[in-house]
Amino acid sequence: MSIKQLYQLYQQHPLVQTDTRKLRSGDIFFALKGENFNGNAFAAKALEAGAAYAVIDEKEFEIEGRTVLVPDVLTALQQLAKHHREQFNNLPDGRSVPFIAITGSNGKTTTKELIHAVLSSTYKTYTTEGNLNNHIGIPLTILKIKMDAEIAVIEMGANHQKEIAGYCEYAQPTHGLINNAGKAHLEGFGGVEGVKKGKGELFDYLRTQPHGFALVNWDYDYLREMSKGISGIIKYGTHGDAHVIGNIHQSDPFLQVSIEQGINEKLITTQLVGDYNLPNVLAAVTAGKLFKVPDATIKKAIEGYTPSNSRSQLVERGSNKIILDAYNANPSSMRLAIENFARLQADNKVLMLGAMAELGDESLQEHISIVDLIAQHQWQAVALVGGDFMKIQHPFLRFENAEQARHWWQQQQFEQTHFLIKGSRSMQMEKILS
Ligand code: ATP
Ligand code: MG
Repeated sequence: MSIKQLYQLYQQHPLVQTDTRKLRSGDIFFALKGENFNGNAFAAKALEAGAAYAVIDEKEFEIEGRTVLVPDVLTALQQLAKHHREQFNNLPDGRSVPFIAITGSNGKTTTKELIHAVLSSTYKTYTTEGNLNNHIGIPLTILKIKMDAEIAVIEMGANHQKEIAGYCEYAQPTHGLINNAGKAHLEGFGGVEGVKKGKGELFDYLRTQPHGFALVNWDYDYLREMSKGISGIIKYGTHGDAHVIGNIHQSDPFLQVSIEQGINEKLITTQLVGDYNLPNVLAAVTAGKLFKVPDATIKKAIEGYTPSNSRSQLVERGSNKIILDAYNANPSSMRLAIENFARLQADNKVLMLGAMAELGDESLQEHISIVDLIAQHQWQAVALVGGDFMKIQHPFLRFENAEQARHWWQQQQFEQTHFLIKGSRSMQMEKILS
């Protein structure tokens, strides 16, 4: 079946599902293959559960009139997304819908959600749900966008070269923002230069577009350099000649941003913990300004946003205050979180840090650097959990996993204490609080 024909089916059944457990009646089921499963084998089950059609790529699973056989299901899903995306160019009323892509090493989801909060105040805005930012999540995100869309905001995650370039082929962003290119997924990208090159594929794509537009953090020399040659640029940062300029007013613990240039609101009081959210907030102000959201609305939208899923959250337990940032960690974000916590004005501070994953050859050295950083400050206690923290010398408490750290915590009976809990997703550091 051709993509055009498949698109006609999709127009009749615009709900796409890849997981039989979440299937609703009338969905089109895409039988993807994973490392440990073959979706084709679930096609019959999906149809029984009410799927309108099942898209498969192995002939032996065909069911007369109910399955659609394609050469490769994943490619078909991406091609379908591409075809749908193209419907948002030159709409009958003359508009084209801006598609804003967000990538970077850290803060993509937070930035995406802040930008969505700002733009959805004024426009019908569609965005990535949660963290569905990969080769499956991006097509699914695109296929959820309805024809009433005025703006789309799409998160793009990547851990190797050519990935973002691939996403751009079907998401076809008109606008792009690279948060940063730091020490994350070093293994797959091959070092920080590799990270820059990989994330830079978003700007490379925009450079080929006659009306490509970039939102650029002008504080970072490498982003200035990478954005050269893109037809439209709006700059944000903490100083200099940026269109939007803002700085930390205070962060104890919630971040307050003073705006010095760009909009006529002087102070934004966020519900985010951590200085590292400053560029994320400035990006959202910049997107609001670019799309002419009223200044007071920009402020209100950012102030109304509360993070979820253990991202920079503040949790209170009795007289203790916990900065729960256990959603993920890499050397860049770990360093910033520790430095931010060290600056916090409080008497009793405890660090509980889980190991950082996916660092390849540099992993041991990166964990040693974090230990060195910790040793430069005063703490009431430091607990290091799992992974390479178990393999290196250090004077701090060590625990195999979050469970053991939780036992220790429960025995201590802390009062009036501040905690920073952070670690890679696989360390599940949020379990300390469970
Ligand atoms: P993922 O790669 O899992 O999609 P992400 O890039 O979407 O992550 P977020 O989920 O927004 O990032 O934030 C994860 C963590 O990254 C935060 O809890 C915080 O510790 C850190 N972080 C957020 N923003 C920044 C930033 N601008 N610079 C550095 N670190 C940041
Ligand atoms: Mg994310």
